[in-house]
Amino acid sequence: MQLSQDVAPGVAWLRTVMVNVVFVEPEPQDGRWVLVDAGLAGHLRVIARAARARFGDRPPAAIVLTHAHFDHVGNLERLLDVWDVPVYAHALELAHLTGRRAYPPPDPTVGGGLMAWCARLYPCGPIDISTRVRALPDDGAIPPLPGWRWWHTPGHTDGHVSLFRDTDRVLVSGDAVITVRQESLGAVIMQAPALHGPPAYFTSDWSEALGSVRDLADLSPNVLVPGHGVPMSGPRLTRSLRAFADGFHLEIPERGRYVGAPARRREDGGHDLPRDPWPAAVRRGLAGLAVTALAGAWLWRRQWPGAPPRRRFLPGDR
Ligand SMILES: [Zn+2]
Ligand SMILES: [Zn+2]
Repeated sequence: MQLSQDVAPGVAWLRTVMVNVVFVEPEPQDGRWVLVDAGLAGHLRVIARAARARFGDRPPAAIVLTHAHFDHVGNLERLLDVWDVPVYAHALELAHLTGRRAYPPPDPTVGGGLMAWCARLYPCGPIDISTRVRALPDDGAIPPLPGWRWWHTPGHTDGHVSLFRDTDRVLVSGDAVITVRQESLGAVIMQAPALHGPPAYFTSDWSEALGSVRDLADLSPNVLVPGHGVPMSGPRLTRSLRAFADGFHLEIPERGRYVGAPARRREDGGHDLPRDPWPAAVRRGLAGLAVTALAGAWLWRRQWPGAPPRRRFLPGDR
């Protein structure tokens, strides 16, 4: 049974609950293949089964990571127990894959829905696969994937990359551009395709994210395979992505921890972070709840003015 779905010659995708992994073959095909990202944890078997259905017992030539957020590396270490293969990521992403740097804390105050509100619960890493991971070469080549090149698309993370095949303009965008409003649990469940910027709660530099969306639109992709959401294709995609990029500055959230200023990585492995707005937000939330409760009580009394006053219990009553 074919678990993954073809989207272009030598390119197929598989969803792990809400995150996609992509199976990619070089152009021209030479028997090798590459897994792009490693999905949400708990999906080792389904990824391995999908790989076996496509490629038999041939292991991938490598695993390439768009970035190392927990939902894109969830099965990575267990896959590496099965497959003795190298992992490629951007040089700026390596600290998150060698145990040296966690991501900046996710931002639940950026809004957009339940997925965003729960962001505090999401792990920030790092993981440690020092013996397997290596940096993508500076020239844009992807060693096991002739015909493809990587594009640095920072903003969501510092070392985020997207993959592009020039011959038929196939774009594997990672989280730089996705096709679902990932902040909303309802949208994630419905999966109605529409272009969106990166998941906002995990995006730590919005001006770079804007530049990355524009860079990807400049590639005029004919097929888009995102990290979240279903793929899109055709001339309508090319036009829509152009229009989306031109208007993306209006899509950037109005408020959020990293909207005014980005998280900046430090040499010591930490980050310089904008102030955490969470305590103030919690205070505002509690004050809002209190006002709502008082207003509700007042309205209830006005709604039923004839509500009997509480009767006092007098001596002699039975
Ligand atoms: Zn991400
Ligand atoms: Zn993601």
